[in-house]
Amino acid sequence: MSAKRFTLLVIPEGSHRVRRFTLPRRWISLAISCSILLFLGTGALLFDYVRTHVDRQELQRLRAESRSQQQEIGRLCANIEDLRKEMVVLAQNDAKVRVLAQLSGPRPDALNGMGGAPEDDAATEFSELQRQIDQIREAIELRRESQEEVQGFLNDQRSLMAAKPNGWPVKGWVTSNFGMRNSPFTGKRKMHEGLDIAASTGTAVIATADGIVSRAETAPGYGKMVVIDHGYGFKTLYAHNSKLLVKVGQRVKRGDKVAAVGNTGTSTGTHLHYEVRLNGVPLNPKKYI
Ligand SMILES: [Zn+2]
Repeated sequence: MSAKRFTLLVIPEGSHRVRRFTLPRRWISLAISCSILLFLGTGALLFDYVRTHVDRQELQRLRAESRSQQQEIGRLCANIEDLRKEMVVLAQNDAKVRVLAQLSGPRPDALNGMGGAPEDDAATEFSELQRQIDQIREAIELRRESQEEVQGFLNDQRSLMAAKPNGWPVKGWVTSNFGMRNSPFTGKRKMHEGLDIAASTGTAVIATADGIVSRAETAPGYGKMVVIDHGYGFKTLYAHNSKLLVKVGQRVKRGDKVAAVGNTGTSTGTHLHYEVRLNGVPLNPKKYI
């Protein structure tokens, strides 16, 4: 485009008059530039309009989403509040069980006195929710520890109950009590370390507590005898039997037959000599019947 000027011919339809415009080259350039600018401006406006429209739709969608999330959070808060109340009831029950088991009071948790209406501010609300969840988790952990402690206590109690001699070792009648007596053999005052129970030969002698047979043998004086170790320092001894029905190392339960009544060893008649020992010290068996 080296020409300085351009001529524009306008020929109206159905007319012989031809209009002729002579335009300087600058004007043409200016017109083209303006057109381009106009085009770009319109495009930018259109783009902006479309984008705003899309943004508005997105905004409406987000608002709706936010509303439903708000409701969701409200429900969540209510659920957590219910959980908290249940945990408080559990903690109260736990405390009662511990009193029954004579255990020390449970460690306190932070559940009492928390809660309250949800906050308006979402961030505060979330941190409050998180705090409540943490507290519930902590409370659950405390309850779990406490339950284990109670369980351990009950197991110990059960073992102790099973280990403590209880009941008659044989059906019969007492012929000699525990304590000092004149020996039927020497006539001298001597400690009788057990209980003599008369019964006919062959009557079942039963273990008075759970334990392990530590002796099953014939011993001087005692004749055929059985000793059961019950743990917790308890041992029971059954002497003068006609027959032994258990072996050393055998596990026995309370009520299991361990021997049959007889008259072996130093004995003046068919009877069972029954002893209860705690840490080796003979105790009055009548206190364990
Ligand atoms: Zn005796």
